[in-house]
Amino acid sequence: MAITLDQLAPRAALVEIARDFHARGWMAGTAGNLSVRADDDSFWITASGLPKGRLEETDFLRMRIQDGEIVERLHANAKPSAECSIHQVVYQRFPDARACLHVHSVDACLACEDIPSAAQEMPLPPLEMVKGLGIWEQHPDVALPLFDNLLDVTRIAAAIDQRFQVVAPRAPALMIRGHGITVWGSDAQEAYNRVEIVEFIMSYLARRR
Ligand SMILES: [Zn+2]
Repeated sequence: MAITLDQLAPRAALVEIARDFHARGWMAGTAGNLSVRADDDSFWITASGLPKGRLEETDFLRMRIQDGEIVERLHANAKPSAECSIHQVVYQRFPDARACLHVHSVDACLACEDIPSAAQEMPLPPLEMVKGLGIWEQHPDVALPLFDNLLDVTRIAAAIDQRFQVVAPRAPALMIRGHGITVWGSDAQEAYNRVEIVEFIMSYLARRR
């Protein structure tokens, strides 16, 4: 039987996912970051500035969910990405989230280009694939929370935190304009599947333009 990503050790799973997403053009260069929750209120996340097609299992940091403190690094020079703050918010807000994947794709950027700048949501088309996000309805009316891309990523994380305090998103995903998606799941395999589904929908929207 196939070995699924959740059966691999967390960092081994993330290395495999990074290679796969890099090959598809969703993690070009050093873009994006991937994390898995550990058992003690912390998460393993890809270190900043490393080529995603060539990661090794030592290219990770472990960050405390509560306060963002680095509790373990496997290289003395491994630096946390500013985008760690987004993963931190996801783990704080959603106790069931055990993996969080953030990628930069051309299609996701194109898909939100025509959405008015004041809009805070990105409506999803009622495609069969929406079921893969856990929404089983005949005519699903689902939108992804949409956030502005800001130079200071901690301000994006603060905006996500603030909005999710008021209303939790129906789908386990969010979009940052001109930047990319962040998706979470109950383990690495589920989060991986959901990235594929959201990117499928983004490709559909980009081509429909
Ligand atoms: Zn990013």
